[in-house]
Amino acid sequence: MLTALESKAQLVALGDDAEEQVRWMLRRTSGSWESRRLQLLDTIPGVTAYYSEGSAALAVDYYEDARAGAPGGYAPTPVVLDRTVRIRRGVAWATEPLSIDDDELAAARLAKLMRSELNRPYRDTILTNRRADPACVGWKRITDGDACPFCRALADRGAVYREATATFAAHDDCSCTAAPVFKGGAVGPEADVMQYMASGRRRTPKERAAIRDWISTYE
Ligand SMILES: [Zn+2]
Repeated sequence: MLTALESKAQLVALGDDAEEQVRWMLRRTSGSWESRRLQLLDTIPGVTAYYSEGSAALAVDYYEDARAGAPGGYAPTPVVLDRTVRIRRGVAWATEPLSIDDDELAAARLAKLMRSELNRPYRDTILTNRRADPACVGWKRITDGDACPFCRALADRGAVYREATATFAAHDDCSCTAAPVFKGGAVGPEADVMQYMASGRRRTPKERAAIRDWISTYE
């Protein structure tokens, strides 16, 4: 059986592959910087879609594995949201340094864009199936060894986000994944008030200040 960390390692390997691919695509472009940008605007969305399918498929594999022994039958499905507009905007940003011949920076930005886009379908697949599957009671945040204080705080105690409305707060460099938790399995402690608040999308200025204080205790 696949563990959450092993599944996450597969996603990282897929990301390595995607990163290599976009660096190669950048090297292959030619002409003026505007023309190179257009070439990448043409090709990167398709490549991202390809890797996004792969990411969602990894999440489905893991979901099925983690579900073994849970009551009832449920077949998870891959979830890949349409991000074309955002990706094109991301490519425009990533290729800006080409105007000053800084290919190195453009490559780094493209790599970053691919990573953050790739992590989405995995999380979206876990969270969407979690809501549809009666045997799933929530999800956990899976960080890696060098996660930032924000992510460590949200993942602390192996907290389970049980509220169906709980969202996954990710930042640009975040490579955290989500793992489903099922009835009949080992269910950890539920996320506390601060964890729910910090993971939520809407926050008041007062809540934001409280979250900052709380996260600083993880630094
Ligand atoms: Zn993270």
